[in-house]
Amino acid sequence: MHKSAQGSPFCLLLTGTGTDVGKTVTTAALLRSLLDLGAKAMAVKIVQTGVEASDCGKTTASDSYQYLLASKGADFPTAHCLHSFPLPVSPHLAAAQVGVKLSAKKLACDIQTFVQAQSDYDVLLFETAGGLHVPLSEQEDWLHLLSYLHFPVVLCAANCLGAINHTLLSLDALRYAAAHVSALVFSETGSSQDDCERTLRADNINLLRSRFPSLAVYPLPYTEKREERFARLAQALAPLARNLLAAKPKNATSDLISRDRASLWHPYSPARDNAPLSAVSFSHHNRLVLSDGRELIDGMSSWWCAVHGYRHPHLESALHAQLTRLPHVMFGGLTHEGAITLAERLKSMLPRALSRVFLADSGSVAVEVAMKMALQYQYGLGNKEKTRFLTPLGGYHGDTLGAMSVCDPINGMHSLFSGCLARQIFMPRPSCRFDEPFDPQSLDAARQIFAERGEEICAVILEPIVQGAGGMWFYHPDYLKGLADLCKASGALLIFDEIATGFGHTGKLFALQWADLTPDILCLGKALTGGTMTLAATLCTDKVQDGICANGQVFMHGPTFMANPLACAVANASLDLLASGAWQSQVLAIENVLRQELAGCQSLPNVADVRVLGDIGVVETRSAVDTCTLTRFFTEHGVWIRPFNNLVYLMPPYISPLEDVARLCHTIYEALASTGTGASPSH
Ligand SMILES: *Cc1c(COP(=O)(O)O)cnc(C)c1O
Repeated sequence: MHKSAQGSPFCLLLTGTGTDVGKTVTTAALLRSLLDLGAKAMAVKIVQTGVEASDCGKTTASDSYQYLLASKGADFPTAHCLHSFPLPVSPHLAAAQVGVKLSAKKLACDIQTFVQAQSDYDVLLFETAGGLHVPLSEQEDWLHLLSYLHFPVVLCAANCLGAINHTLLSLDALRYAAAHVSALVFSETGSSQDDCERTLRADNINLLRSRFPSLAVYPLPYTEKREERFARLAQALAPLARNLLAAKPKNATSDLISRDRASLWHPYSPARDNAPLSAVSFSHHNRLVLSDGRELIDGMSSWWCAVHGYRHPHLESALHAQLTRLPHVMFGGLTHEGAITLAERLKSMLPRALSRVFLADSGSVAVEVAMKMALQYQYGLGNKEKTRFLTPLGGYHGDTLGAMSVCDPINGMHSLFSGCLARQIFMPRPSCRFDEPFDPQSLDAARQIFAERGEEICAVILEPIVQGAGGMWFYHPDYLKGLADLCKASGALLIFDEIATGFGHTGKLFALQWADLTPDILCLGKALTGGTMTLAATLCTDKVQDGICANGQVFMHGPTFMANPLACAVANASLDLLASGAWQSQVLAIENVLRQELAGCQSLPNVADVRVLGDIGVVETRSAVDTCTLTRFFTEHGVWIRPFNNLVYLMPPYISPLEDVARLCHTIYEALASTGTGASPSH
């Protein structure tokens, strides 16, 4: 009857506000209720403690014994116990006593395997051992298990003095874990006929109902511990059982992908795209967990951003704390501490001369802001002919029209937008490698352009040391020094776009430190919030701000979400983590592993170059790789790497275990070595 389309049972997690709050009785009664309604249901104790495995379901001490009592008469299995340990203590201790180490991930796998084997069931009820924060291991508890499983939850509480406090704390924890709470079952654990007790119980229920109008609260009356009691309790839970059976099954992965394909654009993709696509259901540390349960080692930091890994508790709690105070407020005429602190902290990390901070909402906007600053500066100085930007080929600065005009004209497909992109001046890519002696001739082109068109040049914009999305190219710091001198001599500003390189990726906190230079304008973004939210910053010197504001002018930019407080809070938290200094040795260790483990790729026939700087590892191939084939190969091999054109590259989160970094490298080697994945026949 109530079968879901995929033939997978509806799964529910039953947990409590503590131990001895009526969780097992509730589970057994709900089981009985489901059976009475004709459903095929089973109750499963995930971890039973205080019982030998062989005694589960046989001794009264085991919860599955109660399930069996409640479901007497069913002609199919109605009770199960996944793990059982003899010591009557918390799961992590009881398991440790017999030399077993539990983990949320392992338990989630066991549960998923079990669920798959029960495809002919309508409902499976999973009961935890104790409350939400009862430890499964030193690091994890039931809430961690929930993040893997995403089962809806029934919270069980004892209706007594202190119940409100425990219930609200548990509901807070569940809300924080983004769990869906299907119901609260409030058990009477004694038969008190005392007036005061009765008043208290009724008030507890009323209070919770008025506090959470949409939460279904089911009182469960006290019954003597007799066998028939479950029939009566099941009646009290019948409405809950009916709701569960009517609940829609969760969407399967394939469904998510087809829904995505029907409605969404993806980056640089055709509308109707058939490229491989994976749905991510959650992330943690350096892992992405897909909706089919597979876990991938992340090699991309979500495009330079998630440097501390995913869901770092310090970032998570900063965001959460800000959410409950001031998620957003307009920045016109109003300010807030998060933005002020962030500006002060960014200034303290950067060369002193960068004295004013504009907080924008994305990297591209930060680049627009930088370009407008430069234009307004030259205008303020009366240099009305200085309106063009000089930039090297192979650069990438974002996707808005102004930023695009300074992107590499081929990669950026300037021909598509030829009528509306500002015409900028391009010079050759800095030819001198980062790791070779500096060749002064690499500045000849720039020198010549300044000589010929210097009076048109408003500013030079470039990514210092590492050109990112335009080719993952590392060039020599002395090139920047020469360029800075040319700018100074002709009155052009120097803009560094450190949106990709900032916050440690190159082994220095900022790439400008390699050249010991201070640009006039600096753009930051990407890792600014540790990969949690979109936020960017454009900083400029006193000279620039004074030029812009000459003759009472204002700076002409002000996004709606300027200095968004949530983003500022999480950026400040990310700077806390960087301030601890751990990133430095982490990046250095990753760099060493990348150097060692990617070196082998150099001998592959389709590989043109291997280069490493900081946590950035690049394998450049001779011909363009087949992104679809490689993406499939990588996800099938448990890693997340996103190649483009002739670049297969890594920038793992700083917290990545080194064996994971090695695994990322080896998988790249295997992919490029195995036939048919290295080169695309169509290129
Ligand atoms: C990513 C990037 C940008 C654009 O940032 P968005 O947040 O994607 O708009 C600009 N410049 C560089 C160097 C980048 O890597």
